[in-house]
Amino acid sequence: IDYMKNTRKKILIVDDSKVVRSMVKKALDECQEIDADLIFTESYAQTQEIVQKHRFHIAILDVTLPDAQNGEVIDLLTEQDVPVVVLTGGISNASKNIILKKNIMEYITKSNPQSLDYIVTIAKRILKNYDAHVLIIDASKSLRLLTKLSLEKLNLCVLEAKSAKEAIEILRTSEQYIPLVITDYSLPDMDGMELTMELRQIYSKDKLSIIALSGSNDPIIASKFLRHGANDFIKKPYTHEEFSLRINVNLELIDLFRQSKETASKDFLTGLYNRRFFFESGIPILEKTKRKSLSIAVATIDIDFFKKINDTYGHDIGDVAIKEVANILKKHLRSSDLIARFGGEEFCILLDDISEEKALNKFEDIRAAFESNILSVSGATISYTVSIGLYYGNACSLEDMLTLADKALYEAKETGRNKVIIHKKS
Ligand code: GH3
Ligand code: MG
Ligand code: MG
Repeated sequence: IDYMKNTRKKILIVDDSKVVRSMVKKALDECQEIDADLIFTESYAQTQEIVQKHRFHIAILDVTLPDAQNGEVIDLLTEQDVPVVVLTGGISNASKNIILKKNIMEYITKSNPQSLDYIVTIAKRILKNYDAHVLIIDASKSLRLLTKLSLEKLNLCVLEAKSAKEAIEILRTSEQYIPLVITDYSLPDMDGMELTMELRQIYSKDKLSIIALSGSNDPIIASKFLRHGANDFIKKPYTHEEFSLRINVNLELIDLFRQSKETASKDFLTGLYNRRFFFESGIPILEKTKRKSLSIAVATIDIDFFKKINDTYGHDIGDVAIKEVANILKKHLRSSDLIARFGGEEFCILLDDISEEKALNKFEDIRAAFESNILSVSGATISYTVSIGLYYGNACSLEDMLTLADKALYEAKETGRNKVIIHKKS
């Protein structure tokens, strides 16, 4: 299983109908979050051949194929432990029962108009699970193993802890992001409820999902867990179907939180961070820098005579020019540097861990890069320059630093544009 993780994902689609194949292809292609190779076959014989050559992360399979009419292709893939999603037209109850006995992830009927959306949702989840980490907390080795096997059926990466203390330590030190923990009620050092409360002090519900497990018949336990910050509660014994649905739903929610947070912190046009995110993550960087008695560089960049570009070539080409700023900045800066679009054609950058001289040189390089850049869009060639105002130090708030950088920018504009001016300390 391990070599299936962190590799390019492959999806096998088997269906003898060309229409179905192209509909599935379109639906999967349109989903931006699915970045996988799609491989199509139309018959059992063809599929037999292709599974010799590839390891698939998911197989979406038709039940009746011209050369194998009774779901034989399902066995072909489940034998190799490939998660199988069955896609089928209306079939008799008898054959439905045969299929449901097989070890498949999902069963989807083609006649349902929502079935394509559902395939995409499932495929997305299965692919993501290959790289997602889940921590099980249970004192009993055999129960841990049982839960672990259920999770591995969902292709998740499983970590284990036998006490609350160990769990906290794993979460604290893991290099991998762990979005989900599943905790038993009775643990040797504290109960699952206390652990949940303790974890909630550190991780909010949108960062870490906590699912509690308990075999107790006390009806109060579930509500108590939820009140203390658990995201969900599963009562033992559970069916595999219930277990997998709850795990997937909770992982899905964490993903949605992360996505909406990401969307809210980014500028739509350039994909750079927005002003809000600049402050949100810039202030902690500044505080850390101050503690170490170091300095940061804060720069504001503004395109020169941008109105002329809009007036001459139109707003759409103006937009391309704005996007080009993002390209050039990314080329000259590290991915860990904070780059944001503050609106219009104004950008702000925060660099830490850099000397004043190096910062000044870096922005001089960036200025020169714009000066020599020629952009060709829809037949037009456009070039423009930028002015840059720079603050270097640690003597005030981020807000004030930006004001001082802006003053320097204003001076750059007043004294001819296409230059970098650093704020002079008085
Ligand atoms: P200066 O050298 O003094 O900066 O001159 P400028 O023409 O760049 O002046 P100013 O900063 O005032 O002009 C910014 C213009 O940017 C005004 C506005 O119409 C345009 N603008 C703001 N946001 C967008 C956008 O998202 N897309 C495009 N195409 N234009 C925008
Ligand atoms: Mg401007
Ligand atoms: Mg401006």
